[in-house]
Amino acid sequence: MRRFLPFLITFFTITNAVSAQVVLKPRPDAFPPEPAPLASKSIAMAQTVEEMASWDRYPTYETYVAMMQQWATQYPTLCRLDTIGLSVQNRLILSLELTSAPDSSLPEFFYSSTIHGDEVTGYVLMLRLIDTLLASYGSSPRLTALLDRVHVCINPLANPDGTYHVGNETVQGSVRYNANGIDLNRNFPDPFGTSKPALPQENEAMIDYVSRHQFRLSANLHGGSEVMNYPWDCFTSVQNPHPQSQWWREVGKRFVDSARAVNSALFRDVTYSGIIAGGDWYVIHGGRQDYMNYYHHCLEMTMEVSTVKTLSSSQLPAYWNALATPLIGYIEEIYSLPSGVGIEDVAGTTAIRVSPNPASDEVTLWNTEPNVRLSLHDMTGRRVGDFCPSSTSYRLNLSGLPSGVYILKAPSGDVRIVKM
Ligand SMILES: [Zn+2]
Repeated sequence: MRRFLPFLITFFTITNAVSAQVVLKPRPDAFPPEPAPLASKSIAMAQTVEEMASWDRYPTYETYVAMMQQWATQYPTLCRLDTIGLSVQNRLILSLELTSAPDSSLPEFFYSSTIHGDEVTGYVLMLRLIDTLLASYGSSPRLTALLDRVHVCINPLANPDGTYHVGNETVQGSVRYNANGIDLNRNFPDPFGTSKPALPQENEAMIDYVSRHQFRLSANLHGGSEVMNYPWDCFTSVQNPHPQSQWWREVGKRFVDSARAVNSALFRDVTYSGIIAGGDWYVIHGGRQDYMNYYHHCLEMTMEVSTVKTLSSSQLPAYWNALATPLIGYIEEIYSLPSGVGIEDVAGTTAIRVSPNPASDEVTLWNTEPNVRLSLHDMTGRRVGDFCPSSTSYRLNLSGLPSGVYILKAPSGDVRIVKM
């Protein structure tokens, strides 16, 4: 969740006194940092993909990677695995890209979760959403249409070092920050620019990734509260309302109503409506939501999906039962987006796509420009190969290279390729 500064308590008290419409409550876990989960909290871990079958466990890191790879193998016509980048401790930041028409110009949607490593409800929700979308294709008309009409990219875990802070075997003891103690959701460029001298490497990778896509709608899932937090985070709505504020409130209401149809107690701990403009809650700088809206003209909101950051694993199915339909409905909002974000539209570029990624011996490059020379470099910058595709796709042989991360340099932008 977003973190309060202590002086804001005073602010909230005053706000509550003067406004009948916006009722704000400080979060009990906002300060000091939430203690490690109590011993009584039951965190069951799945050591294998099979142990995830009933969705009442958290995956170990290895199980998570195996799940993502297994989907890509099991549903090759519906999804492709891509690597956004590596964390400080060299864990994979993965994205599964789901669509029945990967080379078309379908609108692109992005879900990303758990940029705060201890806010893990969304992590499992995203995994279960992937599983549902893939397994339902061809049987559910609604979900079949979704993958026929939208290019859905899902990054279940944006901060793996924070989530597996203690080790790959458990999410118990997970922390908010990356391995360098940095809050990743305070370190993106925002409408005020970049305040930090260097971006964390997880954010650099995320920026590269979203720059290779043209996402029109996205959400970043957090925990610690239950509220639909729409832009801006760096302005109050009085200072500078988002051009699509009314649309955001309508979208937020559809999401919250859908969740409350299953459990009427949900989304009540910040406002009665379950919706808030971020800066009216409290102003932050460097959040990804504002970065996406301002720099990519992508409509992104922050979804705070559970009051407890690290739920007992046995509670995960109940959250899925309430949030599955709203999460799917939010993707479908892309069918009828307002025209533009209200910020001047950016010209798109056709970036190269790589599949599979990570790869073993060969990857296919898509959207290559014929007769334009490309080069591959290792992480020291050394050129390890160059080649010139003759068409819009190209099969790149990696078999002679050692395992590691490589950078494909192309006029449309650099692409990271991970060789296993
Ligand atoms: Zn958070």
